[in-house]
Amino acid sequence: MRKFLFQGLLRNPLTEAAPSPDQDALAELGASLARASRRRLGRSLSIREVDAGSCNGCELEIHALGNAIYDIERFGLRFVASPRHADVLLVTGPVTKNMREALERTYNATPDPKWVVAVGDCALNGGVFAGSYACVGAVAEVIPVDLHIKGCPPDPMALLKGLIALVEA
Ligand code: SF4
Repeated sequence: MRKFLFQGLLRNPLTEAAPSPDQDALAELGASLARASRRRLGRSLSIREVDAGSCNGCELEIHALGNAIYDIERFGLRFVASPRHADVLLVTGPVTKNMREALERTYNATPDPKWVVAVGDCALNGGVFAGSYACVGAVAEVIPVDLHIKGCPPDPMALLKGLIALVEA
């Protein structure tokens, strides 16, 4: 026991190195999205994230958009606390039976025009949770979906590319 405590004091933490995205590519993506949203909406894009029943892997990638590495707020994009202030709902799934009504109410509370982006493979077809007694299924079975971003989970760069495709469509 004493030996393990001693090793724990001397050993470096067993954590993975932080990802290092191409900062030039990231800056270009962020600026493109900001330009597209200003052209389409006349202002910056406001995003509301809805976890309809995910394992939280997709949330980790979505949250990374706001961390010190990606920092999308520098491009004027922001996450909002209420669907009433949102242009885009980023929905992760699958939709569980317990979250179905909350998702429908969130969708109805979001003013038009609005976009819905289903994030991750579970949001597309239930993914690893497909067929579970606790799940309704894909996001599109509950509310209309404008875009699906694939991945388990999709990384922050894929999320930004998806948002650009959405706003420029
Ligand atoms: S797509 Fe993958 S990371 Fe996202 S909720 Fe499903 S299992 Fe989790």
